[in-house]
Amino acid sequence: MNVADMDDLAARLDAAGGQPVDDPVRADLIMVNTCTVRAKAEEKAYSFFGELKRLRRTDGTRPLLVGMGCVVNKQREELAKRFPHLDLWLDFSDPDGVLAALRQSFAPLTALDLDAEFTPALDTGLSPLRFVTAIRGCNHACAYCVVPRARGPQRDVPLDRIVAEAQRLERAGAPDLAVLGQNILAYGTTSGDKRRRFVELLETLLGETGFRWITYLTSLPGDLTEEICERIVAHPRVTPLLHLPLQSGSDRVLADMRRGYDLGHYRRLVAYARQCRPDLYLTTDLLVGFPTETEEDYQATLNAAEELGFDDAFMFAYSERPGTLAARKYGDPLPRGEKLRRLNELIARQRAWGKARNRRYVGQRLAVIVERIDGAAAVARTAFNKPVHLPAAGLKVGEYALTEITSAKVSSFAGNAVP
Ligand code: SF4
Repeated sequence: MNVADMDDLAARLDAAGGQPVDDPVRADLIMVNTCTVRAKAEEKAYSFFGELKRLRRTDGTRPLLVGMGCVVNKQREELAKRFPHLDLWLDFSDPDGVLAALRQSFAPLTALDLDAEFTPALDTGLSPLRFVTAIRGCNHACAYCVVPRARGPQRDVPLDRIVAEAQRLERAGAPDLAVLGQNILAYGTTSGDKRRRFVELLETLLGETGFRWITYLTSLPGDLTEEICERIVAHPRVTPLLHLPLQSGSDRVLADMRRGYDLGHYRRLVAYARQCRPDLYLTTDLLVGFPTETEEDYQATLNAAEELGFDDAFMFAYSERPGTLAARKYGDPLPRGEKLRRLNELIARQRAWGKARNRRYVGQRLAVIVERIDGAAAVARTAFNKPVHLPAAGLKVGEYALTEITSAKVSSFAGNAVP
C-alpha cells in the first residue's frame, strides 16, 4: 500500500514537471513514507530521519523534508520534537490532504493542479502504475497488529472514485490492475449499502475496464466466502493469485491472535477455491513466536504449511508492537533465539516445498508482463506475480509476452520468449 501511495504521488509530481534525481542533495523535495508493522521497519524510519539532518547543499540550503506514513500517524508531536529538521509531517491516510499540504508548503507546486488528469510515462524509472486503493485502515483487531492504530478504522474509497482511478490508469497504459485494502474482502461492509460489497467492486471493475488481469490484495480468510470463490476467484480476468494469510496452524494461537477463523475453516476454503480455480497460486503469511505459541503450536504451523501446499509465503518472527492487545496481555516471553530458530526452520522447509511446487511450471507457457529491460536481459512477471528472467530481444517494457518456463527457483523463474 505504501508502494501504491508513493507511485501515485511520484507520478503526479512527474506529470507536474518534476524530475527524479539520484543524489538526495540535488532534490528540492524529499518525502519519506514509513511503515510500523514491525519494530525493525520503525527503527529504519527513525535512523533515516536522523540521517537527513546532515543533508545540506554547499550553499547551506536543503530540500523540503517531509515525513509521512504509519510511524507519523502514531506520534506526530513526539517526532516533530525529536527530528525538528523535518519540515512537514503528513498523514497519508488522507491523500487529498497530502496534496493540499504540499501545494501550500512547496513553492514549485503552488500553482500546479496535482489533481488534474495525468498520464504517467512507463519509463520514468518509476514502476509501471497498477495499484488502486479501495480501502484505507482496518476494522479488525488482530491481537499482534498495529495497523488499526496506525492507519485508523476502515474507510472505503467510493466505488465511482475507484472506477475512475482504474480507468485513468488504463488510459495511462498500465498493463494490469491491483486493487488494494488491508482486508480487501471487507470492501463495502462499513457502508451498509449492499451494492458496494467486494464482489460488486470487482465485477464493476471487470465491467468498466478492459484490464486483462486484475489482482486483489489482501484477503482475511474469515471473510472469504463460497460466493467470492465462485464469482471472483474463478473469473478468467482475475489473476490466479490468492494471498490468504494463515499466520498459524494452531487453532489455540489463532484464537489468541483474534484472527476469527480456525484451521478447518481455512482448509475448507482453500479446497473450494482450488476447485473453482484449478490454477490457483496460493500464497500466505506465517507468523512464528507469537507469545502463547508452544513448540506443539509451532509444529502445527509446519504441518499446516506442508499440508496446504503454499506456493509461496511471507514468514516472520513475532515483533512486539506497543499498544496492541498482544503486547498488553502477553508481553514478549519467547527468547529471540527461539523465535529465530522456529523462523529459520520454517523458511527452509517452506522454500523447499515452494520450489518443488514451482517446478510444475517448467515446460509450460505462461503470459507475462515485461517489467524491466537491462541490456540483453529482461525481467517480466506472471499473473501470479512471480518474476521471470528472460532474454530481452524483441520485448518492450509494459507489454504482455508469452514465455516458456525453462527453470524454477524458490522465488523466480527463468524462461524464453515464444512467439
Ligand atoms: S486484518 Fe488483522 S492483521 Fe490485517 S491489517 Fe487488520 S488487524 Fe492487521
